[in-house]
Amino acid sequence: MSADLLRINSLKKSFYRSSSLQTKVLSDVSFSMKEGEIVGLIGASGAGKSTIGRIISGLETADSGKILFAGDDLTKMKTKVRRQLAKDIQMVFQDPYEALSSRMKIHEIVGESLHILQIEKGNLEQRTQLVKEALRSVNLDPDYYMNRYPHELSGGERQRVGLARAFVCKPKLILADEPTSMLDTSLRLDLIRLMKRMNQQEGTSYLFITHDIALTRDFCDRLIVLKNGEIVETGETLDVIMNPVHPYTKTLIEALL
Ligand code: ADP
Ligand code: MG
Repeated sequence: MSADLLRINSLKKSFYRSSSLQTKVLSDVSFSMKEGEIVGLIGASGAGKSTIGRIISGLETADSGKILFAGDDLTKMKTKVRRQLAKDIQMVFQDPYEALSSRMKIHEIVGESLHILQIEKGNLEQRTQLVKEALRSVNLDPDYYMNRYPHELSGGERQRVGLARAFVCKPKLILADEPTSMLDTSLRLDLIRLMKRMNQQEGTSYLFITHDIALTRDFCDRLIVLKNGEIVETGETLDVIMNPVHPYTKTLIEALL
């Protein structure tokens, strides 16, 4: 952990409901992440967490502010930067159905980004090897799962496919937006263990978005607490959980007890 992987400066975002009515969703959000770091972004529903994730991944644009990824300004979005963004930043979503097209077989789903990014272009065998490796890294036997469809899998298996799809590009950063909230407790912990293993083996960083502070305890190095589009507290995970400073953080923790 040394250089900044991601640096967000004064991110602002409003949504316009009508010509006269606008909702401020992010008021002045700044934070940074080191290479290899796992950061939990926590806050109640509606706080603006997903909007931050969507802006970083390029699915949404900010009104103002700067996003530096490995030194490159993503808000400028030059072609080179955009391609790098597509390879180095992957997203994992809450609902596996959202990201997993049901008409595609699992190996097509996992290999799709390799295809888009033209990694191993033309070399089907090498691409298949990368897909198999990604499936193995989430404890799914490729021989069985490669040719299945999403509807033939359980929710936990589908979410692991979503993770394999992110892992296959060997991204530097994974934006994981409530990836465990559709799963029961033991499957939640399984998924977190898989994400942690990829962090230890490959140095993958995570921005782990969740409303459930309990999940961050054994996973995140550091927490950022977001309330109504503003960061109200940051600190090392255990410090924040054991000694929350802001009243809002206290209420998030009390809700666990
Ligand atoms: P969280 O992920 O913390 O629950 P979100 O970032 O999804 O919060 O949403 C924050 C606020 O922004 C909510 O009030 C939501 O209704 C609003 N919002 C999010 N996306 C849009 C959109 N595309 N258009 C209008 N309002 C939006
Ligand atoms: Mg959300």
